[in-house]
Amino acid sequence: MTKAIRIHTNGGPEVMVWEDVPTPEPGPLEALIRHEAVGLNFIDVYFRTGLYKAPNLPLIIGQEGAGTVLAVGSGVVGLAAGDRVAYAGALGGYATERVIAADRLVKLPDSIGFQTGAAMMLQGMTAQYLLRRTHAVQPGDTIVVHAAAGGVGLILCQWAKHLGATVIGVVSSAEKAALAQANGAAHTVIGHAALASEVKRITGGAMVPVVYDSVGKDTFAASLDSLAPLGLMVSYGNASGPVPPVELGLLAAKGSLFLTRPTLATYTAKRSDLERVAADLFAAVGSGAVKIQVNQTFSLKDAGAAHTALESRKTTGSTVLLP
Ligand code: NDP
Repeated sequence: MTKAIRIHTNGGPEVMVWEDVPTPEPGPLEALIRHEAVGLNFIDVYFRTGLYKAPNLPLIIGQEGAGTVLAVGSGVVGLAAGDRVAYAGALGGYATERVIAADRLVKLPDSIGFQTGAAMMLQGMTAQYLLRRTHAVQPGDTIVVHAAAGGVGLILCQWAKHLGATVIGVVSSAEKAALAQANGAAHTVIGHAALASEVKRITGGAMVPVVYDSVGKDTFAASLDSLAPLGLMVSYGNASGPVPPVELGLLAAKGSLFLTRPTLATYTAKRSDLERVAADLFAAVGSGAVKIQVNQTFSLKDAGAAHTALESRKTTGSTVLLP
């Protein structure tokens, strides 16, 4: 047997139950891994509440981890027992041991510890595709980053600055503003009520070519109002709730805007894309351009407390759950 956090129904943090589950066996093209650390992400909340539909119940939630390969199934090449690995984007993470499709694993460089690995794969690969592919940020760009002191947010601030961009970070408190600034945000705005007017002031009226908005419902309108003509609205999360249906004419009226709702799953669906995105992230972390900040750790069995902290906006940076 192994231990896991499972949900048997959707609901609040109390629906997560720490229980024995049978130790899985790796089938063809699969690997069995022992987690040394598990990543906490907002998507875990969406699966717990039911905003994102569970493929089956009971469900082991969690999408990210780092650990050691214990065994591989038939047909697996390039991986062996003892390898240090990490992954993001595969349900089943909140467990001491798990089976996973081997082609979703990447080898963790020796210089990157397990906790950092578990903290960075999902949030860091997200920052990579957002800044390098969804909109290829150029030196001299001024960009808006919401939840700038959060997990994805702190990585976006550092990486965008490294790329030569000027970041306007949106946060909810003075403490978070200071943290975002210490991590590369040139400007911070507290709350979104005055976002567009602040962006107008900071950019001398030009507004910005791209907004990275992970907050969703509450900030969608303020984000559109912050864009320059032909700007790109990247709505990549729903921390405040999903964005209601959009009247397309709004995009015309606000300056022929572009709108995308991207996911890491699409951007890393091909093995070659996963390897490229992960390699770019490892290089950014390895060079020191991006420092992964594990600002909270919890025991995996206390995942409920971790969810409560994340949902009540008490966390900053990344959070790791320890089996
Ligand atoms: P964060 O650490 O950023 O935590 C969420 C933050 O959102 C909070 O700290 C808070 O910052 C802000 N927030 C604003 N409104 C609310 C609200 N009503 N309730 C809770 N938080 C709120 O989480 P993650 O780094 O794990 O994820 C950030 C976002 O990115 C999430 O929306 C997630 O779904 C999304 N995401 C999307 C991916 C994709 O590929 N599409 C991949 C990875 C993450 P503050 O207090 O400063 O407002």
